[in-house]
This record gives sequence, C-alpha cells and structure tokens, in this order.
Amino acid sequence: MNKSYLKQMLSYFSKVYQLGEKIKRLKDGRLSPQIETSTISFIVLFAFICRLRSFNRLEHWLEKGRFKNLFPKKTRLPHIDAIRRSLSSFDIDSLHDMHDHIIKTIFKNKVFRNGTIDGIKVAAIDGVEIFESINKSCEKCLTRVDKQGITHYFHRAVVCATVGSDPHTVLGYEMLEPKNDGSDKDEGEITGGKRLIRKLYEKFHHFADVIVADALYCKAPWLKEVVSIGMDAVVRVKDERLHIVKDALGLFQSVRQINNG
Ligand SMILES: [Zn+2]
Repeated sequence: MNKSYLKQMLSYFSKVYQLGEKIKRLKDGRLSPQIETSTISFIVLFAFICRLRSFNRLEHWLEKGRFKNLFPKKTRLPHIDAIRRSLSSFDIDSLHDMHDHIIKTIFKNKVFRNGTIDGIKVAAIDGVEIFESINKSCEKCLTRVDKQGITHYFHRAVVCATVGSDPHTVLGYEMLEPKNDGSDKDEGEITGGKRLIRKLYEKFHHFADVIVADALYCKAPWLKEVVSIGMDAVVRVKDERLHIVKDALGLFQSVRQINNG
C-alpha cells in the first residue's frame, strides 16, 4: 500500500469514525500490561486491513519493524506473545461498542442514501462456521466427528451484512448457542437470526428495507419477524419446495383473473 494513500485512509477513519479515540477505549484482561491495549488493537486492525493471513505473518512483520512508522517514536511495540495474551483476554463488549459506533456513523452519514440495489437498502443474513479446530475447544463448542473418527470443534454464527453496491458492511452477528438437549446441534439459524435482526433494529432502527436469506429461512416465524420490524423478506425457494412455488403461481393467476374480470 502506498504511504500517502495509507496516511489519507487513516486520517479519514480518524476524522469521520473517531477511530483513534475509539481504539483507546478498547480493553483486555492483562494485569499491569507494558504494552497498551490500543497499540495492540491498532496493529491487529492494521493486519486485517492488509489482509495478513496468519499470526506467523504478523510475527514476521513485527520482527521486521514494519509497524514502527505508524506510531509515535517512543511507543513500545509488542512481540507476538503480548498480542496473543491481549486477544485471548479481550473485552469483546468494548469491541462491540466500537463496531456499533461505526455502523451508527454510516447510517447517520447516509452512506446508503441511494440504497444498495436499485434504490433499495438490502441486507442479507446467513449462517457461517467459525473457529474450527481439532485441538482447542470450549464448553460452548459444537462438534462433528469425521470419517477418521476425529472430533472437530467449531462454532456457528449468523451474520447480517449489506449486499449490492459497496461498501459491503457487516451490520452485526449473533453466535448460535448449542442446543440444550445434549446433542451436538446448535439452537438453529432462525432462532439466532430472529435475535440478531431484533437487536439490530433496537440499535439502528430501519437498517434495511429488505432482508434476503436462503431457503432455510422459508419459514413463517422468520417471515413474521421481518415483517414485524417493518421490513420485507426475500427468501430463495429451492426446487424441492416446488409446491410452494406452485401455490404462489396459482395465487398470482387468480389475482390476475380477479383484476381482469
Ligand atoms: Zn468453543
């Protein structure tokens, strides 16, 4: 990335989104740390911006002193171990506050004033699998046993993001809790999805005109939830559910006949 472009980008983030100020409010659980949480947070954020693929790469960059010019001269920069310790005890709520502030600013500045698709503000919702590991797990992990009999631990979340024109913005996510029946299933995408859009509505109000989702969401509780917050739902219907399509086509046909008659 070219230096002046980088400088411009960071000062824009700082001016419009108060990023510097917000990063200073991030917290972690380290006791009397020698490296500021804000320094570590900025390095990790910067690594995301540069799409660094692994902590090994980040370690390499730290050793090469690649971050030196981004900080005032006397700032102490961390080794990778300090970054690990910080992230593993990170105060997620403070991170959520920063994200919410960014999204609120986006809406306040009317970034989506022209909609994202044909003048309409469209958000999509979908489930994703994250933190897959065969070595590490926590009490909330979901599990799957593969053909070799190896247990894989992972989590699932539903994510809501704007779709269509740029910027594609992640408005929020919701972790799916494990089902309470001792099985290895999660509580279900629709349950998590409903919780997510309700939360987004409380925080950002009319965050979309339309919410799109895949065939999994072709269920009354989901459609009702979307309509209850004053938005329209678009759901992709798969071939297996063709009877629904037939019903709809029949209905359209009769409406047309009524209109014509
Ligand atoms: Zn886990």
